[in-house]
Amino acid sequence: MNSRRDFLQKLGLSALALQLVPYSGWAAGTDKTEQVYDGPVLRVAIMGLGGYGTIVAEAMRKCTKAKLVGVISGTPSKVKAWQSKYGIPEKNCYNYENFDNIKNNPDIDAVYVITPNGLHHDFVIRVAAAGKHAICEKPMAVNAKEGQEMVDACKKADVKLLVGYRMHFEPKTLEVIRMRQTGEFGKIRFFQGQCGFTIGDPTQWRLNKKLAGGGSMMDIGIYAINGSRYMTGEEPIWVTAQETKTDTVKFKEGVDETIQFQFGFPSGAVASCLSTYNMNNLDRFFLDGEKGFAEMQPSTGYGPIKGRTHLGELNQPVTTHQTVQMDEMCEIIFNNKKPVVPVNGEEGVKDLKIIDAIYLAVKTGKKVEISV
Ligand code: NDP
Repeated sequence: MNSRRDFLQKLGLSALALQLVPYSGWAAGTDKTEQVYDGPVLRVAIMGLGGYGTIVAEAMRKCTKAKLVGVISGTPSKVKAWQSKYGIPEKNCYNYENFDNIKNNPDIDAVYVITPNGLHHDFVIRVAAAGKHAICEKPMAVNAKEGQEMVDACKKADVKLLVGYRMHFEPKTLEVIRMRQTGEFGKIRFFQGQCGFTIGDPTQWRLNKKLAGGGSMMDIGIYAINGSRYMTGEEPIWVTAQETKTDTVKFKEGVDETIQFQFGFPSGAVASCLSTYNMNNLDRFFLDGEKGFAEMQPSTGYGPIKGRTHLGELNQPVTTHQTVQMDEMCEIIFNNKKPVVPVNGEEGVKDLKIIDAIYLAVKTGKKVEISV
């Protein structure tokens, strides 16, 4: 752990200058009066310098409580480029063979694993063994068993395990959750989650069963699953599911193209969801209650998220999701802050148990009971 004061002091800034440095913790959120942040700073190494790793790194430039200080990569040219772009010292650069040595590096608090899904399990377990907190992208693993092993490993090593559920910090999403919790929609009856896009390059890892763990469900359908849980506030108790595959060359055995699935919840509410790699313009949530509704479109993209309820437009601030997520994760790791919707490993395992059940329902054609 290191404080922002330490960082700034290393930069040679005086106490007076510190007073004048604005607190930008809300820069991506509400327009609060500027104030100095002098709490702990989460020093993060990103593992996997690909598309999403780059988005996270750029968003972290605006963080107040988290800082990118290291990289773990299999591509030396990217490491060089990131070093000069983000001022990362040589001693904080690792590859997949030697990153266990991070245990001897006191300048890194956490590793953010942003590699293909099938690699999350082994990498997170090695991060935990090195005594570092682990942040892992969704899906946290390729099945619930692996997810639970990651939770257990982090518990044993006494480090935190968090999953990159950025929507759990998104203001319009949180407003809908608040409205549901305070009964403004009345009794929830129905949720609809539609998540998908048309996937390109057939050779990419997302279409490789070993690296992806499945197909669209693992990658984008998980938003409908996770969303159905935080929007309704309930855990599903059964699922039925149907798969459609129009291209068996692109979407090989074990790589789902389109799955429709339905949940039942303890209250009697139901959900109807679609996950696909073969349709665009699908990023929509609809929540229906006895007294009102919420509709969000886009509902889980990088933003801006848009939505309305029976009371009108949602006008909460537009944020950079990953900036807010990383600042909040600092609070969770160092101050045990409890987010409105959890982002811990157990939360990730719940989604994986549901994904396991969806795949079983597709395979058997039967209604599958779920216990998360
Ligand atoms: P990319 O393919 O763009 O990047 C993955 C990176 O992982 C590569 O660039 C590479 O980095 C590293 N890597 C290590 N081993 C392999 C391997 N065998 N094959 C391919 N890459 C490898 O993927 P994304 O960044 O889009 O996705 C990474 C993770 O982030 C996934 O789990 C995905 O689900 C998640 N994600 C989450 C999003 C969100 O909004 N929360 C959005 C997008 C993705 P290097 O060269 O440095 O080793």
